Amino acid sequence: MIEYGHFIGGKRVAGTSGRKQNVMQPMDGTVRGTVALASTQELRAAVENAKAAQPAWAAMNPQRRVRVLMKFLELVQRDYEELADILAREHGKTIGDARGDIQRGLEVVEVSIGAPHMMKGEFTDNAGSGIDTYSMRQPLGVVAGITPFNFPAMIPLWKIGPALAAGNAFILKPSERDPGVPLRIAELFIEAGLPAGVLNVVNGDKEVVDAILDDQDIKAVGFVGSTPIAQYIYARGCAAGKRVQCFGGAKNHMIIMPDADMDQTVDALIGAGYGSAGERCMAISVAVPVGHETADRLMEKLIPRVESLKVGPSTDASADFGPLVTKEALERVKGYVDLGVKEGATLAVDGRGFKMQGYEDGFYMGGCLFDNVTADMRIYKEEIFGPVLSVVRAKNYEEALALPNDHEYGNGVAIFTRDGDAARDFASRVQVGMVGINVPIPVPIAYYTFGGWKASGFGDLNQHGGDAFRFYTKTKTVTSRWPSGIKDGAEFVIPTMN
Ligand code: NAD
Repeated sequence: MIEYGHFIGGKRVAGTSGRKQNVMQPMDGTVRGTVALASTQELRAAVENAKAAQPAWAAMNPQRRVRVLMKFLELVQRDYEELADILAREHGKTIGDARGDIQRGLEVVEVSIGAPHMMKGEFTDNAGSGIDTYSMRQPLGVVAGITPFNFPAMIPLWKIGPALAAGNAFILKPSERDPGVPLRIAELFIEAGLPAGVLNVVNGDKEVVDAILDDQDIKAVGFVGSTPIAQYIYARGCAAGKRVQCFGGAKNHMIIMPDADMDQTVDALIGAGYGSAGERCMAISVAVPVGHETADRLMEKLIPRVESLKVGPSTDASADFGPLVTKEALERVKGYVDLGVKEGATLAVDGRGFKMQGYEDGFYMGGCLFDNVTADMRIYKEEIFGPVLSVVRAKNYEEALALPNDHEYGNGVAIFTRDGDAARDFASRVQVGMVGINVPIPVPIAYYTFGGWKASGFGDLNQHGGDAFRFYTKTKTVTSRWPSGIKDGAEFVIPTMN
C-alpha cells in the first residue's frame, strides 16, 4: 500500500492532519494506497517554504532558470514509462493515452523555455523631455494551482512550467484521486536543480483549497475542474484579492455538414467521443448532423463502431479506452444513461451492462450512443463526463450553429465539412473558445492559449501561450529622468505631453 503525503521544502513529507482517503486503481477496483488530506497548518508550512525560496529564484537570471526546465524535460524522458504506468493505474486511462497526457504537459514546459523572451519589457526613449519610459514583467511571488483528476500530468505542467519560468514559487493542489504523478513531477524538478521550496505539492480536499484561497501570501490561483467548483473558487479567490483564473466543465458539439466525408468524420468522432472514456474536457459529447439524410448516414456508420469499441484495462495497449475513475463516477454516468432513456432519447447502443472479464471489480462500462436527443433534455444540458455520445439532429446549418451558441458551456466545438465558406462562417460566429475545422479535439498547441467561454471559463486570461506569462507576472512601468533633464521649479498641474 502506497502512502502519499505532500511535497514541501524539496522533499516528500508525511501528512500530519490525521485525515486521509483511499487512492483507487480503477482497472481492478483495488485500493492502491492512501493520500493525506492537508490541514491549514500544513498549507502554511508549504507557503513559508515557498516564500523563503522565491526571492532567490526570481533573482536568478531567466536563462539559468529555464535550464532547470530543460533538465526536467530530460529527466521525464528517462522516467517516461514509470510516470505513464502510475498515471494509467491511478486514473484508469490506457497507457498510450497516459503517455499523451504527459507529452501535452511537456510541450508547455518546452515553450516556457522561451521565458527570457516572454519576460522582456518595453522601452521608449525620450518619451518627454529627458524622460525615458520602460516596463518590466516581474513574478507575482507565491502562486497556486488546483487541478482535476482527468489530466494529472498535463494540467499541473501547464501551470508549473510558465509560473516557475517567470520566477514564481508554486504550490500545487492536485486531485486527491490520482496524486502519484504530481508528486513524482515535484521530485524530478528538484533532481533537475530547482531550489527546495520553489515547488510544493499539498494533497487534500476542500479544507486545503479554502486555506489556499484565503492565504494572503498566495497572490494568484489557477483552477481547472468542474464548473460549480470553478465558480466557487473564482468568487472566493477574487474576494480575497487574488488574481484568479478558473476553467470549468464542457459540452462540446461536433457539427456534421451534409458534404462532410462520413468515414473521416466517424473516425474523428469515435476517438473524440470515447477516448479516455469521455473523461476529457475537450471530448465531443454531442454530434449534430445537419439534415435527416446526413443523420441517417452518420448513424448507419456510427452504431457498429460504438458497438465494437474495445474496452480494456489501463495496461492493455490495444484498448480504445479503460475504466472510469471511481465507482461513484461509473454510477453517475450510468445514472445519466437511465435518465436519457426516461427523457425519451433513443438509446441506440447501450454499454451499461458491460463487464470486463478478469477485472469484474473494475469501474468499466461500454460506449453508449443516444439518438434523437433534444435541447431541453438534461442529458444534453449537463456534462456527463463518460463514454456517452448524444446525437442531436438539426434541420439546417443555422439550427446546428444555434446549439453550441445557446448552450451554457463554451469550451470546444468542431465542424466537419468540405465547404470553406461554411467553415469560415462557423469559426467566426460560434460562441465557443476553441474551434476545430475537421479537427475533433482542437486543443491549441502550447504557444497558443487554451480556454473556454461562458460557463467553461472564469477570468480574463487563458492557460498557456502568451497568456500564461501575463497571468503569472505583473507589469511595472518606470518613468525616469536624470538630473540634466530636470527643469527648475515646482509643477502643480498634472504633467501632460503638451
Ligand atoms: P472537480 O471540480 O471535482 O475537482 C477539481 C479540483 O477541485 C480538485 O483538486 C478537487 O480536490 C477540488 N475540489 C473538489 N471539490 C471541491 C470543493 N467542494 N471545494 C473546493 N475544492 C474542491 O473536478 P474533477 O472531477 O477532478 O475533474 C473533472 C472536471 O474538470 C470536469 O468538469 C471537466 O470538464 C473539468 N475540466 C476542465 C478543463 C478545462 O480546461 N476547462 C480541463 C480538464 C477538466
